[in-house]
Amino acid sequence: MYDPKSLKAEEFIDHQEVLDSLAWADAHKNDSKEIDRVLEKARLHKGLSHREASLLLACDDPGVEKQIFELAKEIKQAYYGNRIVLFAPLYLSNYCVNGCVYCPYHYNNKHIPRVKLTQEQIAREVTALQDMGHKRLAIETGEDPVNCPIEYVLESIKTIYSVKHRNGAIRRVNVNIAATTVENYRKLKDAGIGTYILFQETYHKESYEQLHPTGPKHNYAYHTEAMDRAMDGGIDDVGLGVLFGLELYRYEFAALLMHAEHLEAVHGVGPHTISFPRIKHADDIDPNAFDNSISDDIFCKIIACARVAVPYTGMIISTRESADVRARALELGISQISGASRTSVGGYCDPERTDESSAQFDVSDRRTLDEVICWLMKLGFVPSFCTACYREGRTGDRFMSLCKSNQILNCCHPNALMTLKEYLEDYASPVTKLVGDKLITSEMTKIPNEKIRAFVEKNLVKISEGERDFRI
Ligand code: SAM
Repeated sequence: MYDPKSLKAEEFIDHQEVLDSLAWADAHKNDSKEIDRVLEKARLHKGLSHREASLLLACDDPGVEKQIFELAKEIKQAYYGNRIVLFAPLYLSNYCVNGCVYCPYHYNNKHIPRVKLTQEQIAREVTALQDMGHKRLAIETGEDPVNCPIEYVLESIKTIYSVKHRNGAIRRVNVNIAATTVENYRKLKDAGIGTYILFQETYHKESYEQLHPTGPKHNYAYHTEAMDRAMDGGIDDVGLGVLFGLELYRYEFAALLMHAEHLEAVHGVGPHTISFPRIKHADDIDPNAFDNSISDDIFCKIIACARVAVPYTGMIISTRESADVRARALELGISQISGASRTSVGGYCDPERTDESSAQFDVSDRRTLDEVICWLMKLGFVPSFCTACYREGRTGDRFMSLCKSNQILNCCHPNALMTLKEYLEDYASPVTKLVGDKLITSEMTKIPNEKIRAFVEKNLVKISEGERDFRI
């Protein structure tokens, strides 16, 4: 029985409720009165239920689609402005005991080199990432309690935060590791992580069990209930995602929103982020073997409908996607992107790893971080390396209330400009610096509060004189 407040996976992601929602969406997708009602509600910028958002996704009327896309852009602008937060993944270990059929790290893949970084190697990787300009990382590991226990992850986080190379520093470490216990989540919280990210892969239980035939990840309930344990362990920023291509996208979309509604109902705060990964070619993995792949157009529509449904949630797209798809997605609500990612363990500084023989999947956007930054600015976005909210304790519902109170222009926007200025001074090419300095000058005029504008102006000068790390 469907119950968003239940702590049982099969009740808050009730299969019948997903099917009923899709059937309801199909029955009403040509019902202009119902669609207008949902669009009207979406215009309030307060979000939609999983059923309402599923209706928009099901409707293929070009006029309605146009309205959804416009609304997505408008909502993104209202809550997040034109800032785009940058991050990079850092692969620590690809040892894995699971049998995930879409992932090259699966246990039965005997020809992929298994690598686990030492703390010295992690420090080198972090130095390389800092030298590009990164301030925010997402650490990634396979699941292996013996080769990659929680103690190793905790020690690695400490190492990452301790590296200070030139003006570099990693100021926020997000963590994407397998579902674990409340006790381990508490340890991660105490280690100072930002968001705990765990992709559901698929919400369809039967498919989930087939796609994860062996290993601890086979347990659907344990995986699906992980975010509740993370929140019980004190982590209030959690990141959801499904791996599009594994199951029917409309099923995943409705269930993903049901998961968000569940977190809100039980913990009083929805997901901090939702990621939008699509399955990619990798060693031992042919994406064509999965017959639920989605076109770029459908992918973009999913992103737009999600933005309309969850206005306050950060939305992430990785370098799995090409520059063209990323450009489209940025217009539809994406607020965070990765840049210059390597998906192999040790890939940032070890030339032997740049052949990607241990890569998790092929990367489509292979540009340098500087190229990505310049491209973003030319598209009219403000690249941001800001990590202030998490460092000021504005996580969970405190971040959401900042977002809901529309104080972004007085808080996040100035922080974005100051961190962009740091990037321009320390890492940018001459062309990027030129484009960036011009952009900062024009963006300064958008800060409504005079005192804050003056504060930022002063700090921009200090940054050009060598001082670092200002934030509101
Ligand atoms: N091992 C952790 C777990 O069990 O959740 C997560 C870390 S894994 C390095 C990060 C994510 O990569 C997975 O959750 C999966 O969605 C994604 N992934 C795996 N294989 C992929 C592929 N072939 N193409 C695209 N993404 C893939």
